[in-house]
Amino acid sequence: MIHAGIGYDVHPLTAGRKLVLGGVEIPHRKGLEGHSDADALMHAICDAVLGALGEGDIGHFFPNTDPRWLGAASKLFLQEAARQVIFRDGRIINVDATVIAQEPKLMSYAGAMKLNIAQALGIHPKKVGIKATTNELLGFIGREEGIAAMAVASVDLPDAT
Ligand code: MG
Repeated sequence: MIHAGIGYDVHPLTAGRKLVLGGVEIPHRKGLEGHSDADALMHAICDAVLGALGEGDIGHFFPNTDPRWLGAASKLFLQEAARQVIFRDGRIINVDATVIAQEPKLMSYAGAMKLNIAQALGIHPKKVGIKATTNELLGFIGREEGIAAMAVASVDLPDAT
């Protein structure tokens, strides 16, 4: 049975932080604020995979009050989501995501992001879609106050699990 999941995440942009998206450190004058490395793209994909399982979200597995995840590389979260799929005898079919950022331009990093995400999930990079769009200067994303990401995942699960 094919199960679909959806994920969304947003983090504020702030000076003095690294900008990490899809596990790629991207040169920029601001970075994303958060308890972990604040990789909104990986977080959205993580929630999409967990959502396809009907499981709790990333905050359930990795509370942002837990000092273990302070500054953590978000690939750890994707690895755990992939483990949850395996526990259920499932198989990730694909994930697809869009990053919404006014700046910087991201598509030149998409290949490296796909590799990192595929590796963390244990799937082929061709099963990972990464797209980027601006917010047409509108709202908090348009004012470069934050970056958002949305993702879907499809997971093949045995019947009655
Ligand atoms: Mg997050």
